[in-house]
Amino acid sequence: MEKNPDRNPEEPLHETSEKKTAGKPVLYIVIPCYNEQEVLPLTAPLFRQEIESLTAAGKIDPDSRILFVNDGSRDGTWGIIQDLSRKDPCFQGLCLSRNRGHQNALLCGLMEARNRCDITISIDCDGQDDIRAMDSMVDEYLAGAEIVYGVRSSRETDTFFKRFTAQSFYKLLNWMGADTVYNHADYRLVSARVLKEFANFREVNIFLRGMFPLVGFKSTSVYYERNERLAGKSHYPLKKMLALAFDGITSLSVKPIRIITGVGVFISVISFLLILYALIAWISGRAVAGWASTLIAVALLGGIQLISLGVIGEYIGKIFLETKQRPRYIVSERTEGMSPEDDAH
Ligand code: UDP
Ligand code: MG
Repeated sequence: MEKNPDRNPEEPLHETSEKKTAGKPVLYIVIPCYNEQEVLPLTAPLFRQEIESLTAAGKIDPDSRILFVNDGSRDGTWGIIQDLSRKDPCFQGLCLSRNRGHQNALLCGLMEARNRCDITISIDCDGQDDIRAMDSMVDEYLAGAEIVYGVRSSRETDTFFKRFTAQSFYKLLNWMGADTVYNHADYRLVSARVLKEFANFREVNIFLRGMFPLVGFKSTSVYYERNERLAGKSHYPLKKMLALAFDGITSLSVKPIRIITGVGVFISVISFLLILYALIAWISGRAVAGWASTLIAVALLGGIQLISLGVIGEYIGKIFLETKQRPRYIVSERTEGMSPEDDAH
């Protein structure tokens, strides 16, 4: 397996780092956290255990780290991360200057990790995703895969509503042309080699699970059972999920605009037939003014036109945001082991 050519092996990653075990990949587990003070103390030791067991099994380098990205939490999350990192250098943290959302926080962690490691695994901090699945992910990497998607094998622990909305979400995304791996969220192993190429994807509207397949390279999936959240509550209510689906579709595909064109053509054909019918009726002297048909036609067309304008407006809005090229995240604080790099963005 090719190691990260950008990582300078001469330079120790951290002051505490011991001599590296030759040939083993350095793993960074990247974890975005937003208001997670309840669950973080429960899950942090679990991530630590996983690093230990992977190191003991000889699969990863002992310099591997757990990197938390505090996404502008309003509670004690950053304090907990700082404490963890003071006690154990395996824990590292970045603090964003404000809440930028899960996708941006994750992107920040991955971009900061990419020159310090050979592989990253991104995961949520709530313990819902089976941490043990990292074993198989690393195995797949060692067997040659550059991207390993964590896929939920069942959704039995979810409520019917969550299951239904989540499944409709994937179907809608794929139907609308945003290709994503079914039942894969953001639990994923990505090699530094892929991240190096990914860093050239400069868009500000990001939907990571739909973008990684675009980078290419050898990829595979690992299946796992998803659990209940260990503590705290979900930050993805239906409203946010719909917003994410909409962002995903409009960032990755122009199919909605094509659908509008299709609907436009269809309606034009019907209108043309209606005009013909009206002309014939008028010529043959049978034209009786009916307000109902007029009203229906006006209302229908008015509605479709407004929706169409809305969708087109959404794309123009995205172009507007992209042209500004604002930074996607701003790091305000770092734990000791995470000194800034010039090319982090
Ligand atoms: N998250 C984040 N910023 C946000 C919202 C969420 O970094 O604005 C993190 C959150 O801390 C968690 C992950 O994203 O680690 C997934 O969130 P959550 O568990 O609430 O979503 P769900 O699993 O219910 O879809
Ligand atoms: Mg969750």
